[in-house]
Amino acid sequence: MNPQEKLEVLNQVLENCKASPFYKDRLPSQPLRSLEGLKGIPLTRKEELRKCSPFDLLCVPRRELYQYHETFGTTGTPIPTWFTREDLRNNAKEVTKCGVDLNENDIVLIRFPYAISAIAHMFHAAAQLKHACVIPASARSSVSPFPRVVDLMQKLQVTILACLPLQVVLIAETAELLGLNPHKDFPHLRAICTAGETLSPARRKLLENIWGVPVFDIYGMAEIGTAVVDCEFGHPHPLEDYFIFELLGEDLKTEVKPGELGYLVVTTLKKRATPMIRYLTGDVARVMGRECACGYNYSLEILGRRDDKISVGNRVLDRWALEEIVANFPCQRFWVVGPAPGGLHFVVEQEQTGDIIGPELINKLENRYKMKIHAELVPKGTLYDRSELLSVGVVGKPLYIYSAEEMEKKAYLKSLRT
Ligand SMILES: [Zn+2]
Repeated sequence: MNPQEKLEVLNQVLENCKASPFYKDRLPSQPLRSLEGLKGIPLTRKEELRKCSPFDLLCVPRRELYQYHETFGTTGTPIPTWFTREDLRNNAKEVTKCGVDLNENDIVLIRFPYAISAIAHMFHAAAQLKHACVIPASARSSVSPFPRVVDLMQKLQVTILACLPLQVVLIAETAELLGLNPHKDFPHLRAICTAGETLSPARRKLLENIWGVPVFDIYGMAEIGTAVVDCEFGHPHPLEDYFIFELLGEDLKTEVKPGELGYLVVTTLKKRATPMIRYLTGDVARVMGRECACGYNYSLEILGRRDDKISVGNRVLDRWALEEIVANFPCQRFWVVGPAPGGLHFVVEQEQTGDIIGPELINKLENRYKMKIHAELVPKGTLYDRSELLSVGVVGKPLYIYSAEEMEKKAYLKSLRT
């Protein structure tokens, strides 16, 4: 879409939004004369949406409603989102822009949660739109515990696994507990598609090393759909025919420069049932100029939530930075990190006997990152109890970043220090 076409579509979206009690008083009465005019419309914040009735957001008559979802966020009241039939199809189309190139030869095992949240359904519809075969093996279901997923992947010759990044590790751990090698014993697997959690370059590399296949990430949320997808060369590009993106600085007014971190604000151009106008996603992102072989000349890197971080002096280390440090350790699957005087305290689970984090490595890291780094290895199973993987039922989620209080509370950490 060129800017003029985009402006026309945006004005149509704004007109359509006036049917909703939530938007009707927030929007200009006249059509915008330029895309810049969008900046005069107030941001839509999650707190506001949480206070609304699910029907306050509706911009279409009820007879057009086709499906309902809510965010599966870990904090606060979930945010409602409705889909028309066309919305759902557009959502599926967004996912198909991903460089994994879903096709009729694929058998896709979907391990996102199907209940209430949207991503499993979007991925499911996308795979079927491309004539792939879907195995709906939901996460968080007692019907499909981890060993069953491993069994399905093997016996059905699954070519694509789609799940949260953490699940990729947990499925590999289960396969290993069952005596299998993720790298060798799944010869039909050609790719892994992730969504739903921030995927840093270090974490992506870890997942690719474990399974020996490329990982493609898609970014989105129930409220907006899929907004950024990895191309075939593994770079995240924004879907600009479907959204208008803004990256705002701390004041939530001025746009940041390319390369700088900003708060991601998204306006949906195709969603009809519950469109989002200047939606403050809560995620931090940056535009990186980069000629990509796919034709794009920039990427939109999503670094995730701003509160997922640790401060050391006046420096702030976010999830990407912490995972980059961990990437230097011989074992990287399960760890926790908390603040320590002048630096960071890592507790890392051993993967193989013989894994060590020696003083040379620590020295190197302290010089590189200019801070104190404590790293202690603990035996396998200390941070994450593998027996849960073989049990039936919902499996607990390991945490990676601890506060100082949480570090104190954990008895096993205390005993290590005394
Ligand atoms: Zn590309």
